[in-house]
Amino acid sequence: MERQGNIRISSENMMPIIKKWLYSEKDIFLREIVANASDAITKLKKLVDIGEAKDEGAYRITVTVDSKAKTLTVEDNGIGMTEEEVEKYITQIAFSGAADFAEKYEKAGGDGIIGHFGLGFYSAYMVSDDIEIFTKSYREGAQGVHWESDGESVYSIGECEKETRGTKVVMHIADAEKEFLKESEIRTLLQKYCSFMPYEIYLNPKKDDKPVNTPEPLYLKQPKDCTEEEYKTFYRDTFHDYNEPLFQIHLNMEYPFRLKGILYFPKVRKQVELERGQVKLYCNQVYIADNIKEVIPEFLMLLNGVIDCPDIPLNVSRSFLQNDRQVQKIAKHITKKVADKLTELFRNDRARYEACWDDLSTFVKFGCIKDDDFYQKVKDIIIYKNISGEYRTLESYFGEEVSEADAKEGKEPKAAYYVTDENKQAQYIRMFKDAALDAIVCDGYIDPHFISYIEYKNPTRVRFLRIDADVDSALKEEGGDDQAVVDIFKAALADKKVTVTAQKLKDPTIPAIVNVAEFMRRMSEMNSFYRMGDAPADVTLVVNTACEAVLALKEAGEEEKKIAAEYIYYLALMNYRPLTPDELALFTETSTKFIGKFLKNC
Ligand code: ADP
Repeated sequence: MERQGNIRISSENMMPIIKKWLYSEKDIFLREIVANASDAITKLKKLVDIGEAKDEGAYRITVTVDSKAKTLTVEDNGIGMTEEEVEKYITQIAFSGAADFAEKYEKAGGDGIIGHFGLGFYSAYMVSDDIEIFTKSYREGAQGVHWESDGESVYSIGECEKETRGTKVVMHIADAEKEFLKESEIRTLLQKYCSFMPYEIYLNPKKDDKPVNTPEPLYLKQPKDCTEEEYKTFYRDTFHDYNEPLFQIHLNMEYPFRLKGILYFPKVRKQVELERGQVKLYCNQVYIADNIKEVIPEFLMLLNGVIDCPDIPLNVSRSFLQNDRQVQKIAKHITKKVADKLTELFRNDRARYEACWDDLSTFVKFGCIKDDDFYQKVKDIIIYKNISGEYRTLESYFGEEVSEADAKEGKEPKAAYYVTDENKQAQYIRMFKDAALDAIVCDGYIDPHFISYIEYKNPTRVRFLRIDADVDSALKEEGGDDQAVVDIFKAALADKKVTVTAQKLKDPTIPAIVNVAEFMRRMSEMNSFYRMGDAPADVTLVVNTACEAVLALKEAGEEEKKIAAEYIYYLALMNYRPLTPDELALFTETSTKFIGKFLKNC
């Protein structure tokens, strides 16, 4: 005999609220129902362990989609429930639990609970008109129980025939939610939410079917028992990325909090915008959500990985989580592990570290800028490729500390030269190489920010100068300042915004080079970045008085002086940056005059 009862919680008010908030994520109901089934098996196994229940082996969860009957069924062979338990756990606890959830949710402002964890059994009403439970407790002589409710107001409960121990939840899917009657849709959802759940899950099983999940995911194993091949396979299967990862970090911690997982460094294409990675958060093998910034430091989101952390309180608001000490410790621990792994690679396998550096560097630099703790841990293992293609630590470019007193006198720390484009700055690089001077290559899009950051962190040790910012003393000889030459150029370039100096460069083949002071160039780059107008930086033309062609100018006629000086100016400018269309037109004009003069004299 079935009896009827009223659901005492005012679920009429709750349902619309939950439906509204969770509409875009209503598919979490499947996770909640399958997780309940999984918990029921775990509970039974515990009883078996202490001899309170019989072990009948082959624990499993079966999910069945029946599009004709419009039902989705989740069945387990776990602990089951007696009639009293159904009353208590489903009618009272599940419904009041959902009310509790709704209240917390409202307080948290709608989307405050990560992965909408903890809504539980009631969430199935987001997609169902009616739900039936058929269950039989593990207890000796237990009777099958049938429970049914539309979730709104009334329920019925009574005995039924059920042969096997465990629980079967039959969801009568609402007409508007037909997608949940598609096997392919349910498979996708099971793969998303349940792929690491601890018991085999079968979907519409046929003979010899394989489970849809991996009950013992690799991250649960001890790191020493995992092979490289297994790490790669796990990566491929989990992230569907067929590029091999660079390497991985296996997190395995029991105390003071439990944390397991694997973080992979993916290969990134250099120069492109940072691609967001995917760090999946699990709680006891149940998927919660991706890229939870409260738990995983933001810069680590560039990685791919899985993290399973049963100790994170998930059914609390995000702002609570953000300030939770435990969660902060977890984030710090993850950061430390990443820094440790990089340091270990740097010390033990420098060749591999260098080979990976192009892929790693953006991540490391971004991490430094974002997180001072991380910077402190990795600052000695940051490397730079120099213009000879060798890798050197950044520290090796640092000079003696400049004392406060010296700094007041205007003494600056040692300059470290850098290149932002090896092709465009080729002339300067050639001069540097000839003079055995070194410069580092900073061609990543994060590098300008990183350079400023390093200067800010080490104001007394280093300052960075782009290779074309000035003429290093190693590139020139004393006493090249020739006023007559300067005057010729000043006169010829009077209509251009350029400062002229004369110096004796060691390389006599170059008539002149362009310099733009570091500070000015950075300012103008920043302005154009923020679209504050394109004020070009002031250009200095350094005329080389070691070059014969330059000295010959002094003997030339007035018209020839002007044409040759302009010509030299454009040559120098072209070696600094591409000419603008207007400059190109003027350069063509000057060149034509130049050729005319040359041919007349032949
Ligand atoms: P939670 O799982 O967070 O406790 P739920 O609303 O999902 O909340 O479930 C309420 C209770 O109902 C569970 O704690 C459990 O005791 C019981 N229950 C739910 N599903 C099952 C199941 N498949 N087998 C046995 N008991 C279940």
